[in-house]
Amino acid sequence: DAKRKGRNTWCWYQGDQQRITEEAVLLRHDLHKALLEEQFELYYQPIVEAVSGRVRGLEALIRWHHPERGMISPGVFIPLAEQTGQIIHLGRWILRRACQDAAALRAEGERVVPVAVNISSLQFLRDGFLADLQAALEDAGLPPGLLELEVTESVLLDGVDQAIELINGLKAIGVRVALDDFGTGFSSLSYLRDLPIHKVKLDRAFIQDIVTNRSNAAIVQGIITMAHHLDLVVVAEGIEESEQQQDLIRRGCDLLQGFYFARPMPRQALQALPDRLPVPPG
Ligand code: C2E
Ligand code: MG
Ligand code: MG
Ligand code: MG
Repeated sequence: DAKRKGRNTWCWYQGDQQRITEEAVLLRHDLHKALLEEQFELYYQPIVEAVSGRVRGLEALIRWHHPERGMISPGVFIPLAEQTGQIIHLGRWILRRACQDAAALRAEGERVVPVAVNISSLQFLRDGFLADLQAALEDAGLPPGLLELEVTESVLLDGVDQAIELINGLKAIGVRVALDDFGTGFSSLSYLRDLPIHKVKLDRAFIQDIVTNRSNAAIVQGIITMAHHLDLVVVAEGIEESEQQQDLIRRGCDLLQGFYFARPMPRQALQALPDRLPVPPG
């Protein structure tokens, strides 16, 4: 009986796995169409100076408006696009659109702050990335200083030397690089020393319970202190409450980002964004 039960359990998991796989196949197919039909949109989330709450940057975050399924999260479709290689095409579209949006914001003169774009390592490490990027900047008429790239440690896939060379190339043309999701994965602290990055983004996983979890607080404090000694700017992601904000200000974190200040929003909504966040109650 136990054996049968075991088999049933196994069958259930297999069925589930199959369903997930079929789902992925369908989505991949839709993704192809979505690229042709431009079902994507870039949303923007403000990044504020910790002590003043002034908006100092915007992170571009892709949204997929699926005609039947509604909004699909990038956490779902970006990994799929990476598996199929579609990320190259999609990533190029994202970069170009972000540059156009940033140039438009600059022309409006409202909020002239750098726009940060997430770049998949596959796109980043591909030959011709730097040329694509320069073309995107030129076509949009965007000064390179208003573009920032967010990459994760997986840019080290082809080795640290390759990553250093690429980031130095970007630095030479005036585009800054931030190391995203720092502290997750297999982060080595020496990457902060070796990579010619400008900024490090602390993952939300450490921020979530920073007020109550002394170990996470210690890690965050350690990274902030070390990053500052290395002349790096530190951003904390995923701030949802004022207690987290206060804690991170005390710890000397430079920039903050999270639902507490503002959710990612369509570009048009940025016009109504106040200079300082969060908006005081009342
Ligand atoms: P990420 O780059 O670390 O982006 C931060 C994610 O945290 C975003 O999720 C953002 O909406 C979410 N977030 C911001 N503040 C808060 C908060 O206070 N609480 C919570 N719970 N979440 C918060 P999103 O937009 O769903 O994106 C997820 C991930 O998908 C991104 O993580 C990034 O890795 C990837 N991604 C998003 N857009 C792009 C893109 O244009 N290109 C590439 N290659 N990847 C992208
Ligand atoms: Mg990011
Ligand atoms: Mg992140
Ligand atoms: Mg992430």
